[in-house]
Amino acid sequence: MLKSKTELIFSSSKRALNEVGTQRKLTLDCAPSHTAVKGNKLVRQGSSRPFIGAGPGETGPRNGGEDHHVTFYFQLAYFWYLFLEPRYCLSETILILTLVVRIDSKLHHQWNDSDNGVLDEDSLRDFLWNEYEQTESKACNIVTKKEWEHLVDIDNEWKADASIKATLESAKLDKMYWEKYFRNLNPSNFKDINLRRQIVKLSRLGNSALDDDELAKLTNITNKMTEIYSTAKVCPPDFPECNLDEEGLPLEPDLINIMAKPGLFEDHQYIWKEWHQASGANMKELFRQYVELSNKAARANGFHDKGAMWRSEYECENFEEDMKNLWMQVRPLYNELHKYVLNSLMKKFDEEIMTNETLIPAHVLGNMWAQSWLNIAPLVMPFPNETKLDATELFREHNWTVLKMFETADDFYQSLGLESNEMSYNVSGGALIVKPEDRNVVCHASAWDFCDRKDFRIKMCTELNFESFVVIHHEMGHIQYYQLYKYQPYAYRTGANPGFHEAIGDTIALSVSTPSHLYSIGLLNDLRTTEKASINSLMNMALERIAFLPFGYLVDRWRWDVFRGDVSYAGWNRHWWHYRSLHNTNSKSRSIPFRETIQKIKAPVERNDEYDFDPGAKFHVASDSQYISYFFAHILEFQLHRALCIAAGEYNPKKPKKKPLHMCDIYKSKAAGKRLRRGLLLGASVHWKKVLQKITGETTLSARAILEYFQPLFAYLIQENQKTDQVVQQDT
Ligand SMILES: [Zn+2]
Repeated sequence: MLKSKTELIFSSSKRALNEVGTQRKLTLDCAPSHTAVKGNKLVRQGSSRPFIGAGPGETGPRNGGEDHHVTFYFQLAYFWYLFLEPRYCLSETILILTLVVRIDSKLHHQWNDSDNGVLDEDSLRDFLWNEYEQTESKACNIVTKKEWEHLVDIDNEWKADASIKATLESAKLDKMYWEKYFRNLNPSNFKDINLRRQIVKLSRLGNSALDDDELAKLTNITNKMTEIYSTAKVCPPDFPECNLDEEGLPLEPDLINIMAKPGLFEDHQYIWKEWHQASGANMKELFRQYVELSNKAARANGFHDKGAMWRSEYECENFEEDMKNLWMQVRPLYNELHKYVLNSLMKKFDEEIMTNETLIPAHVLGNMWAQSWLNIAPLVMPFPNETKLDATELFREHNWTVLKMFETADDFYQSLGLESNEMSYNVSGGALIVKPEDRNVVCHASAWDFCDRKDFRIKMCTELNFESFVVIHHEMGHIQYYQLYKYQPYAYRTGANPGFHEAIGDTIALSVSTPSHLYSIGLLNDLRTTEKASINSLMNMALERIAFLPFGYLVDRWRWDVFRGDVSYAGWNRHWWHYRSLHNTNSKSRSIPFRETIQKIKAPVERNDEYDFDPGAKFHVASDSQYISYFFAHILEFQLHRALCIAAGEYNPKKPKKKPLHMCDIYKSKAAGKRLRRGLLLGASVHWKKVLQKITGETTLSARAILEYFQPLFAYLIQENQKTDQVVQQDT
């Protein structure tokens, strides 16, 4: 469906707020439709330095007794949480301690706002606990409410205007605080390590650090790019001379649906080419101005360039190297999948794809960006005759309702000993779980935090199918996270990093998709499965999750290079294809080793370095949304799943054949829930590695779990690819 005018206005309201809506934007991809929303007041995360161990209550340099009352009480709360973990009274405990801290703080400290606006340690602490906490939470609540009201009634112009107004007011507030208090603060001048961490986060304002004219210009440019993407149309393949305005096809749902039908080689080639012209090439000059101004904003925040500002949210000195190492760990699995799929497609398109081809044409994988290959599953399934599990059919057979889907998902979280998500789908409390008939709404599924510690909602046009069932679990992952970190200070009420929020619900979804879980919830009568069915099911999962990895990695790798100036304007498109393809590179840039290909696909038609701008055919590039979080989350969710399965006694890494990781279901495991709880409670108050450690016992993100999960398929693919190689050798 074409984006409505009001959505575009909404989009412009989002742009008015520097880095707003990071989490919202995070979710416009990967899983087809889900979003985490904390209004437009999402707290920026970020630090140019690692702050490992800088958690609340962890001891930092001290300066004698009385200055550290807050730290002391925070330590007490933290100690309570670390060692006692009283499930039912933790929230209440923190609340009480928080109140004590505030009273204590009031009693001991007088406001000390010096003339130049720089606060001393006690005054800043007092300000953050009181005025800032209350004012920002209230503003966040108003913005989120107005935004919600707008999105569940998108044709109502009054509500659209009210949403924009609230957003702009809120942006003004942020900038006022930043200019008055945070801009000139130097974290190293503060002794309280927890205060230091908050300062680092609060001293980053994002794009709003630009002066008003430049911010307006950047906002306008990003809006225009988003508008080009959202309104681009393509004439139907059988009517290329159409009147574009009246007969052209928008991306959603038309082009996406055509691309999803396997086997239409020529139609897909035509659509791919036209879409990349309509959305990509038309914004190339705008993107140049966007890079320039974005970098200027990044410098105003103390970073070398915009890519560095984005990466700072991960608080790792060598984040680029870390991501590259992760990619190298999963690359062998991707390469085998790629080879197997290419061989299968050669059989299907024997005239179009040459037998000595090493790259897959980008348009034959069932998706405009070749980022999910699930739609071509019928062409590449290892055992097509094996009976497959049709979970969607099971819902109908067992007379399920949408409400029952939500209740069942909620039951999963509660079975782990976690919080009830009931308010998130309670329609009388404001939630929206079916598409209303009396008005238009933005159906894109999303999970909302109204910043008042009690109102959390899901907005979703749920359908009675398995995909929706998985999305519900995903959204409830966000709701659970919101609830668990709700007593953190405002600056910490967000995910440990942008990848974490997305990974929680998807971790749960890995259990939900197993036959044993469907059996537990009464959807399956028989638990028997065959090895062939198991390989098929892993193949389905790989076509979605493994096929995505190189794309998830390369989008920001390309942007980091562009922002840093490693690649010139003239070389932008060539550089994009350098990362997507294997050949044709003459680049001498320092961070671009020769032949380091990532996705191994090729453009279906010739590209022109001067005119084409293929990255602009991707939403996140057009809309100024970072992307590496998806890659991060895709690796993380398997690592979390593995650790929770071990805690649940459902997986033994020493005996993977006895019960493989992909068959593990953590349903009803209090031990798994306890681990998840203790990590999610922390919000962004500590470095994400600390959160990872709380849940998994490990301190580094690792691809070991995803490799273990897919091991049976990996072995199968290697074996089948070797057989194909032998046949080819015999033929030649
Ligand atoms: Zn999400």
